[in-house]
Amino acid sequence: MSEEEKKAESELRRPSCPGCGEPWLRPTQLPGRFRCVYCLRRFELVSQCPNCGEHQTIARMSTTEDMSCQLCGDSMLRAI
Ligand SMILES: [Zn+2]
Ligand SMILES: [Zn+2]
Repeated sequence: MSEEEKKAESELRRPSCPGCGEPWLRPTQLPGRFRCVYCLRRFELVSQCPNCGEHQTIARMSTTEDMSCQLCGDSMLRAI
């Protein structure tokens, strides 16, 4: 990876992995599925908060905030 590519990568707001905390979560071919290229764990975006049970409307899935419960702030990603 070139220096320019590294810079562009770090400037993008990437969602952080709930498993290792590194911003290496990448969408897979399957909708709502993500894979951390750092720790290689897989995650699924759920529509109901695992913590408080609140249902979320998932409009975008590009940043960490979009993948957090709007009520309690818990991650909407479930390890699979
Ligand atoms: Zn990870
Ligand atoms: Zn919640």
